[in-house]
Amino acid sequence: MPPQSLKIDNARYIITVDPERRIIQDGSILIENGSVSRVGKAAALANAKADRVIDARNFVVTPGFLNGHMHISYAHAVRGIFPDNLGSPLSHVFKLQMAMTEEEEHATTLLGLVELVKNGTVCFVDPGSTKFPDACLQAYQDAGIRVILGDCVTDQDAPFPLPRYDTAEAVKRTMSFLKKWQGRLDGRIYAWAMPFSPETCSADLLKQLKRVADERHTCLTLHHNSGPQARKDSQARNGHTPTEYLESIGVLGPNVVLAHSLGVDDAEIECLARTGTTVAMCPVTAAKGGRGVAEFGRMPELLAKRVKIALGCDSPNNSNHLDIVRAMNMAAIQYKDSRQDMRLIPAESALEMATLTGAQALGVGNEIGSIETGKRADLVLFDTQRPEWQTLFNPVNNLVYNADGRSVHTVIIDGRVVVDAYRQSFVDEPKLYAKVQEMGEKLMARTDTTFPRSRWQIV
Ligand SMILES: [Zn+2]
Repeated sequence: MPPQSLKIDNARYIITVDPERRIIQDGSILIENGSVSRVGKAAALANAKADRVIDARNFVVTPGFLNGHMHISYAHAVRGIFPDNLGSPLSHVFKLQMAMTEEEEHATTLLGLVELVKNGTVCFVDPGSTKFPDACLQAYQDAGIRVILGDCVTDQDAPFPLPRYDTAEAVKRTMSFLKKWQGRLDGRIYAWAMPFSPETCSADLLKQLKRVADERHTCLTLHHNSGPQARKDSQARNGHTPTEYLESIGVLGPNVVLAHSLGVDDAEIECLARTGTTVAMCPVTAAKGGRGVAEFGRMPELLAKRVKIALGCDSPNNSNHLDIVRAMNMAAIQYKDSRQDMRLIPAESALEMATLTGAQALGVGNEIGSIETGKRADLVLFDTQRPEWQTLFNPVNNLVYNADGRSVHTVIIDGRVVVDAYRQSFVDEPKLYAKVQEMGEKLMARTDTTFPRSRWQIV
């Protein structure tokens, strides 16, 4: 059991991301029963007693980070296998994913969870790629993290292997998933409707799933892309741009999270803003995948229209890491370069997307995303006694432009310390690493997946 009360005392800085965006120097936070009960200057909280006190004089404290789109299930077993000259790895990705056994998925999930929490992530969206959530439940519980889960469904042909059902079956599966999973682990599991994409789901299925999400007071997420070719295809198929098509069938709204969303035009951005639809963008995937951020990235325009954006890391074989601090860095720098304008996506905006705005985009903004009285106590303590944090005058700039997840010292979720002085305690890491390495080798052999180990000869 976590201690009933916990005090983060005398922090060098607390970046609250509260409505006034206060950064409290020499600040303290009192946590009681999993919630923030007080936050302010250390002197003002000097009398506050707690079961455990963390001396935070060398720490910068931020809200816990949210990862709005990341496939946890397969990639950790085979990370880094795709050579750069392969082009899109998607056909291999889905083949490997479909071949995962329950035991393999449990182990890769554990490894994903270790990487997530040690980099300060407190909540992530797995867009339906976990096939054996029952087998992973204990891992979610032990890691203490918040998980947004769903059952990935399609009812149309797809260019790669995806779970396909007839429409009624897909709806039924989603309804029973929501019934079974919503609110488990003391409310740390959130179940959503998760159709794969508008191209692989009929309008009828999308409409029915949106209705289910509305009725169950939950969200729906799907992969969404636009850009000239997708717009042409969508116009030919539906007579609308991809985003306007979703609006025309009633599948936009504040409980709809569109993943990626590259290449949306001005009318589509208006459509997202008008309907309150939110977006999960994966800046490192966009860059590494050569998706053309200069031409298709519209993050500044989306933010200007107040569309809520969460950041994501996609699959660990697309961005190759699960570190939201690095995703923040990429979000903040890639538009400066691609538009040749240093004023775009300031560090503060990147941090907002990883915290409060991201939480709002994912429908949990009332619970987490900022350090405020009454919110759940999800916090990250960064260790500033490291070279990359020197010298320290502007903590937001240091966080976004200098640091990465390696300086995450302590992570608190729901008032429970899940990473304590750089250590998690839910899994034996060396044992797990060896096991997943072996599983990766077997998975590749079983699925006939072979790539040269390196373009350079390994001797
Ligand atoms: Zn995805």
